[in-house]
Amino acid sequence: MTRVLSTSPQRPSDVVVDVPATEPGAVLAAAAQARVAQREWACAAPGVRSAALAAIAQAVADNAAELAALAVREVGKPAAEAAGEVARTIALLRYYAQQAFDPIGETYPTGGGLGFTARRPRGVAGLITPWNFPLAIPVWKSAPALAFGNAVLIKPSPDATACALRLAELFTAHLPAGLFSVLPGAAETGAALVSCVDAVSFTGSGAVGRGVAVDAARRGIPAQCEMGGLSATIVLPDADLDRAATDIAYAAMGFAGQKCTATKRVVVVGDSGPLGEALASKIGALGFGDPAEPKTAVGPVISEQARDRVADAVTHARAEGGQVVASGTRAGDEGWFVGPTVIGGLAPEAALNREEVFGPITTLTSVPDLDAALSMANGTDYGLVTAVYTADLDVALAAADRCESGMVKVNAPTAGVDFHLPFGGEKDSGYGGREQGKAAAAFYTSSRTVQIGA
Ligand code: NAP
Repeated sequence: MTRVLSTSPQRPSDVVVDVPATEPGAVLAAAAQARVAQREWACAAPGVRSAALAAIAQAVADNAAELAALAVREVGKPAAEAAGEVARTIALLRYYAQQAFDPIGETYPTGGGLGFTARRPRGVAGLITPWNFPLAIPVWKSAPALAFGNAVLIKPSPDATACALRLAELFTAHLPAGLFSVLPGAAETGAALVSCVDAVSFTGSGAVGRGVAVDAARRGIPAQCEMGGLSATIVLPDADLDRAATDIAYAAMGFAGQKCTATKRVVVVGDSGPLGEALASKIGALGFGDPAEPKTAVGPVISEQARDRVADAVTHARAEGGQVVASGTRAGDEGWFVGPTVIGGLAPEAALNREEVFGPITTLTSVPDLDAALSMANGTDYGLVTAVYTADLDVALAAADRCESGMVKVNAPTAGVDFHLPFGGEKDSGYGGREQGKAAAAFYTSSRTVQIGA
């Protein structure tokens, strides 16, 4: 039987969990059980669903320190970020506990009668999640799904299996049997899930996400895919340089750059020298090493392959004419550590400016004006977040209008989006509607139109 093995990136000899993969037949059985439980859950009063989510939020809060420590151990998330992720998870659960009460229909004049829309749960929601937010992503998908009356089946990344299984213990203690299950496994388990649920919400790479969207379309079920990013930060000459450098250093290198919203390209209008120097100094000041240390901002990358990809990307960038503007040193022998690196002087079409490398690496490019900056920021297949740093709000708003990305930040880092705002990308970064906030209801419910004659 295939097994799912998750090891600690800072101490690869530390096996965090080793469990059997869920066979396709067991996925179908879980879906059948979830479908039965969902019928009752859909009819439960909003107060019942809300109370369950609130109780789960409390359970997560009661176990916050243990969950954060597990995220540190399993995916190498720096301790401060792991604590922040748990706090966000609790906030998400409380927010959707409230949303269970919100009206989600409209009334229409019909000439004496009444027309209205009502939203109904999709049924069984299949959630496929990555390892980089091992707690928040499963929760930001499952909390709205449950709030609006769906059952939930999650196929987590193998590298985040222990976090997902611990969440499952906390969730199932407050939910009817069969309504919520975590199904450890790899691609085969994920594919089986897509084959039997009523809606799929995926977060991960574009290569996998596009395949999930196609498989869902073949079955005629809705799919929402949040995929990769190559987010640009544009810095204009009137920007507060110190603020921009502080934000970019963390947005590019925090959690070793392993966020879809990480800054991967810094585009400076005018001379990039002063920002490059400020960035080098800020990055040098970031704690780099053991993620369990409270001061660490940059821990290991997730795997040996991920570490080698970053090293290869630096070698390739040098061969393409790039110069290393800033580089961190390797900490310790054990673990998948790779130094944070900024590469300057690359052409817009260089590999690092076109393809996502999930690690602590970003490019720094100087351009003559805002038009050139936007052309560079928009000139990739991705479109997740763009940040613009300027003191001129008119310029910021005009630039925001021209950014080809699902989200725009003004004088704020690309990474880190408030949990109640709609979240999602354009182009190859997102497909099928927004997550989070009020946008989640549109995905986890379908609309029914009812008309009553006069
Ligand atoms: P990934 O390799 O695409 O995996 C994502 C999930 O899909 C995993 O659970 C994976 O399981 C599963 N999967 C693989 N093949 C499948 C198939 N044929 N059918 C169904 N499921 C399948 O991504 P990752 O390496 O875990 O995460 C990193 C990527 O996620 C980056 O590209 C990052 O930008 C992106 N990301 C995007 C967002 C966003 O909101 N836009 C947020 C976070 C991360 P296996 O691992 O077993 O293959």
